[in-house]
Amino acid sequence: MVCEKLDTCDFVNCCEQFKKSIVAKGFIRMYCESEKMNECIRKKLSAKYGKEIVPKNMMPNGSPLPSTSTSDWDEKALQYRKHL
Ligand code: SF4
Repeated sequence: MVCEKLDTCDFVNCCEQFKKSIVAKGFIRMYCESEKMNECIRKKLSAKYGKEIVPKNMMPNGSPLPSTSTSDWDEKALQYRKHL
C-alpha cells in the first residue's frame, strides 16, 4: 500500500540530504506507505484547496520540515493547520 502521490510529492522528493534522513524515512514509512496516508495533512489540504496551496516544506503531520518555517505559507494552509 503506497500513496498515489508518492512519485510527485514535494515532501517525499525534497532535498537529497533530507530524503536520506531517519526522520524523513520514518514519516514516509508511517504515512506514505501505510493506511495512515489518509490522515496526511498534505493530502487533505490538497483535496480541499488544490495542490498549489500545499507548502513544499509541510510534513504529513502538518508541521514544517525541521529547520524551516511557515513564513511563506498561504493563509489557508496556516489556518488549516491551526485547527488540527
Ligand atoms: S506526504 Fe502525504 S501526500 Fe505525500 S506521498 Fe506521503 S502520504 Fe502522500
